[in-house]
Amino acid sequence: MATLLALLALTACAVGPGHPAHARQVTAAQPTPPAQPTPSASPSPTAKPAFKSLAWYVSQVPTFPEAPPPQPVPLPTTGSVPFWHRLPTDQKVAFITIDDGGLARPPGVIEFIWEARIPVTMFLNSPAAEEHTDYFRQIEAVGGVVENHTITHTSLAGRSYDYQKQEICGAADRLEGLFGKRPTLFRPPFGEHDSTTLQAAHDCGAKAVFHWTETVHEGKVRYQTPEKVVQPGDVLLMHFRPALMDDLLAALKAIHRAGLTPALLEQYVR
Ligand SMILES: [Zn+2]
Repeated sequence: MATLLALLALTACAVGPGHPAHARQVTAAQPTPPAQPTPSASPSPTAKPAFKSLAWYVSQVPTFPEAPPPQPVPLPTTGSVPFWHRLPTDQKVAFITIDDGGLARPPGVIEFIWEARIPVTMFLNSPAAEEHTDYFRQIEAVGGVVENHTITHTSLAGRSYDYQKQEICGAADRLEGLFGKRPTLFRPPFGEHDSTTLQAAHDCGAKAVFHWTETVHEGKVRYQTPEKVVQPGDVLLMHFRPALMDDLLAALKAIHRAGLTPALLEQYVR
């Protein structure tokens, strides 16, 4: 742990002075830089970054309007949690969420999130989080937040309360043990849920349960709402898959085209 902290401190020095100013707020807590600085992320002003290098991805990120100060949405005060496709807000923000964690974890993602200040919420399956804790901790260190996506990634709809509670609370317990913070948001596998899911999620400490409004895969955004453009409060879903760099970039471009700014879901659901 001491070594990690020392590395983080060194990295902060390395990227501090020359680091470009960022136009938008990412998290309430100051994110710390990744443990492994990548020299290619800071090319000389005249160098053209190689296609799909980290510097290229960073160079493709649009400049966003500054995110408005977050206004947290009202939550039920008793016994239940809301199920949302889209966060009920008029604020000009949209949210990037990344699911699962077991399939692929492109290493460049950590530096990309740091360099481009991309706010991300990670809905993880607890075994993947356990097996690859360092990777997700590094994303956490650059501002990402870990949330709950069950243990076994089984559809919960129609299952007993005890079964659902075991999947949700079991993952929450494990994620809390690994990351030191209990998840407050839950996403059911495949988005499949019933009223028992909402009860169990509540009983396991969740404040809200999220579906999504767009999916992003291999660099393509697929709209699941009639507007075919990202709306305020929209939740974009992608996965820890090999093309995650392309997916992040595609999501950022779609959010920018809509005149919105990416923001962190946890700042709106408190
Ligand atoms: Zn999933």
